[in-house]
Amino acid sequence: MAKKAKNGKSVPKMVYYFGKTKTEGKGAEKSLLGGKGLNLAEMTSIGLPVPPGFTITTEVCDLYYKAGEKLPAGLSDEINAAVKTLEKETSKKFGDDSDPLLVSVRSGAAVSMPGMMNTILNLGLNDVATEGLAKATKNERFAYDAYRRLINMFGDVVVGMDHHVFETAFDAVKKKYKVNEDTDVPAEGLKQLCEDYKAVYKKHTGEEFPQDPMVQLEKSIMAVFGSWNTSRAVRYREIENIRGLLGTAVNVQSMVYGNMGDDSGTGVAFTRNPNTGENKFFGEFLINAQGEDVVAGIRTPQPVAEMPKWNRAVHKELIAIKKTLEDHYAEMQDIEFTIERGTLYMLQTRTGKRTGVAAVKIACDMVKEKLIDQKTAVLRVPANDLTQLLLPSFKPTARNAADVLCRGLPASPGAAVGKLAFTAEDARKEADAGNRVILVRKETSPEDVDGMNAAAGILTSTGGMTSHAAVVARGWGKCCVAGAGEIDIDAKGKKIKVAGRTFGVNDVISLDGTTGEVMSGEVETQEPKLSGDFSRLMKWADEYRTMAIRTNADSPADSKRARDFGAEGIGLCRTEHMFFEGDRITDMREMILSDDEDSRRAALKKLLPHQRKDFEGIFKAMNGLPVTVRLLDPPLHEFVPHDTAGQGTVAKQMGLKPKDVKRRVEALHEANPMLGHRGCRLSVTFPEILEMQVQAIVEAAINCAKKKIKAQPEIMIPLVGTANELELLRGKVEDTIEATKKAKKFEGKLDILIGTMIEIPRAALTADEIAKYADFFSFGTNDLTQMTFGYSRDDVNTFLPDYLSQDVLEVDPFQSLDTSGVGQLVEMGFQKGRSTKPQLKVGICGEHGGDPASIAFCNKVGLNYVSCSPFRVPIARLAAAQAALQQA
Ligand code: PEP
Ligand code: MG
Repeated sequence: MAKKAKNGKSVPKMVYYFGKTKTEGKGAEKSLLGGKGLNLAEMTSIGLPVPPGFTITTEVCDLYYKAGEKLPAGLSDEINAAVKTLEKETSKKFGDDSDPLLVSVRSGAAVSMPGMMNTILNLGLNDVATEGLAKATKNERFAYDAYRRLINMFGDVVVGMDHHVFETAFDAVKKKYKVNEDTDVPAEGLKQLCEDYKAVYKKHTGEEFPQDPMVQLEKSIMAVFGSWNTSRAVRYREIENIRGLLGTAVNVQSMVYGNMGDDSGTGVAFTRNPNTGENKFFGEFLINAQGEDVVAGIRTPQPVAEMPKWNRAVHKELIAIKKTLEDHYAEMQDIEFTIERGTLYMLQTRTGKRTGVAAVKIACDMVKEKLIDQKTAVLRVPANDLTQLLLPSFKPTARNAADVLCRGLPASPGAAVGKLAFTAEDARKEADAGNRVILVRKETSPEDVDGMNAAAGILTSTGGMTSHAAVVARGWGKCCVAGAGEIDIDAKGKKIKVAGRTFGVNDVISLDGTTGEVMSGEVETQEPKLSGDFSRLMKWADEYRTMAIRTNADSPADSKRARDFGAEGIGLCRTEHMFFEGDRITDMREMILSDDEDSRRAALKKLLPHQRKDFEGIFKAMNGLPVTVRLLDPPLHEFVPHDTAGQGTVAKQMGLKPKDVKRRVEALHEANPMLGHRGCRLSVTFPEILEMQVQAIVEAAINCAKKKIKAQPEIMIPLVGTANELELLRGKVEDTIEATKKAKKFEGKLDILIGTMIEIPRAALTADEIAKYADFFSFGTNDLTQMTFGYSRDDVNTFLPDYLSQDVLEVDPFQSLDTSGVGQLVEMGFQKGRSTKPQLKVGICGEHGGDPASIAFCNKVGLNYVSCSPFRVPIARLAAAQAALQQA
């Protein structure tokens, strides 16, 4: 919506009103009004009891930054008009001396960022209006308490004063009245405190606390816009990969109070259990408290199930609202509500964050309840969240024997083990050093997000199931135990005392996020079991996806696990992994360190039966599904010892002198081994290695055929950069297949495909020529990324963190495919390959094959399959289905 400005240019509408008078934002874009603003409008429009107010759009935030942190022209007129409507609707006036209009000012971006941005409450109070509020509520104490909270919050959020200066003033008043608790300070004391706060404000800012509510409002709006770019908000968006937003909207809403006495209260709830997905209203409330008290986790609230004992009618109303909301949104909601003197008000609703387990159950249940269809259910579960279902839990035997120290709230399920870290910085430091840590805090604050992200688990001593720690941890699928009140964290933050024992930074504890228990030491973990809902969702996903999902596996056990997870073949069997097991490495080293072909062949002969046995095991486990076996790829130096002791052992095994072994190892040295003698280049130099591997594959397939096990091997030649390489090596593979069949007197049919990896940029550029000699392509996007960027896969961490923190790169290109660069090569390689062979089978087997965003790209390009590690197979199945549905 836009209107003409005085200069004739059209300006966007900046303020949207919601209330009984009108609801302008209904059906607007979330990107414009933010999640909170849009939902306040929606809730108002479906008749829920929402205190009226208005939303300033995210476009205004963008304009604010573009103008050098200034509010745009015309905004104040729109705000004035909205305030007038609000005054009329509430029959209250800003700054009134009898019953003043008071508002809250809150942030609200299009994507939820819990606790990351600023809020100001009780705005509109000044010296006169506070007297008015005292009169209207007949509660002077309440009025001055509200005023002191406003001055404090305004000082803190708008002018950036240190919270401690207010605390010191409060302590002085408490001392004067000889009380310990804030709540015991009498009205007189709070009146005095307001004067003290104003003085403190003046001392720190050089200005009087603003008495004009419109000035308060304008400054607060600017402060909320300002909080969009604080370092913690920026870091949160980085971690959550939230991009492309204009900024935050600002919601100005008439205040309701949950702290007006014992008939008032406030709470937070989910329409279903966000941990388990159970269809049961799940929430907490606090009697006589402000909303922030629940979220901040300062007091431990009661479960909503207890509410009927306190106010049956409100509980009933809430349960009815649960249904109205779910019918309207067809989605689980996370709500905030306040009860002011027995009247219920809805302050917020949004899609509820949930664990992966809950996401799957809720999606399946909602299909059963006919709230959503199967396609929606498939699209509802973030593919990466399935990791949580596939994560380990504690082994029951170890769990039963565990030394339980105490029990907190089961805030986010899972199992976590680690050393203690008492600050977010320490947690980050330890995690970066490769250690698992449990971040222990009294309560977490938004500043802790980075440490929470780095930790294996989070433990807090106060706070409820909806505290910041719990909400954030659940969103991340990170194990969290909150409100473990028996834990005493020492003042210096170096140790905890619990159950009469002390634990410091070098001690390990275990957290059970599903029961809330805290245990001493390391409790052994185990692999998860999957629910019926999980299989149901996977079945639906399989109906919609068009790409096949394979796995990268090189042992029968991994192959079996991947099949159980739904893999439809092996897309990459890295044969080099088979050479490290047991004493095979000795034969391998002997082969590598041989001086001539004869001794190399003698060593390879010893390796052959091992390879054959491995392949047989894998073919058996895959039982008829295709198995892509890649011929030896890494540079040979990776298999030999580089230290004197290791070389001494090898010398003894081979009957050589240590100095000869040293000389041969040194001869393998290359300045750039990843660009050196590896991949197909090894087979060009040492065709006997290729011959042994192909012979093993063919003999294994023949052995399977004899046992009536169908084997479908595909032989893949790595690191091809020219068609000639493939032409040459394909010939050798074909000759070896024929020779082996002949030697084994095998007359049956063996359909063995011969293909290549496309992992060198030149291969992608000349894929039409290469395809002449290939039955299939598989994009090796690890190497393709390495060689396209020119970043060494092994050394990229020396600068990648800087690139990410300085936004040189948005994401690690080794984790998520760089679609605009490397992706072009994938697309080109695919098209050129298909131009030569329209039926060419094409897949991807780099790590990107398990990343949902990369999978979506592969689907768009038209690949036949993606291949990923066994644990990511379900994620890939779901991501492929989502891509197919979204791109249809
Ligand atoms: C690749 O390069 O993408 C690949 C799958 O091979 P590797 O990681 O073994 O080099
Ligand atoms: Mg590779």
